[in-house]
Amino acid sequence: MTCIFCAIASGEIPANRVAEDEVGVAFLDAKPKSPGHTLVVPFEHVSDLGDGSEVFVRMAPFVTRVAQQVVDKLGADGVNLVVNSGAIAGQEVFHLHVHVIPRYADPDAVPSSVDGVLEALRA
Ligand code: 5GP
Ligand code: ZN
Repeated sequence: MTCIFCAIASGEIPANRVAEDEVGVAFLDAKPKSPGHTLVVPFEHVSDLGDGSEVFVRMAPFVTRVAQQVVDKLGADGVNLVVNSGAIAGQEVFHLHVHVIPRYADPDAVPSSVDGVLEALRA
């Protein structure tokens, strides 16, 4: 069965990519919980933390950089890093990923359109 995040990571299907390094890619979530909600996905297919704890450790520096990018470029005041590992924990896509969810003290000061978010994150 095709894995949607493998297809995005390889470029086979499009996504709003905002960062990439040797371990994986970061792209905007299709249904953001806040403007700039980004998913960090490893190139290697592992389904969850149980399957991919070593991959998770290798992703940590990249996740940290993406979180900093979101804070710096969008002016977020804080950020949630979330991993849903396992269906019971709310995981819906079974390719390990980290949610980077920016939080804003003043939501009116944030670009509201996807294009505005992308422009700021890629600047
Ligand atoms: P999970 O519940 O598995 O941790 O979250 C999966 C996330 O992936 C959800 O927030 C959902 O909006 C996002 N998502 C699912 N399919 C796609 C897709 O095709 N493209 C993008 N950009 N995000 C997706
Ligand atoms: Zn995959």
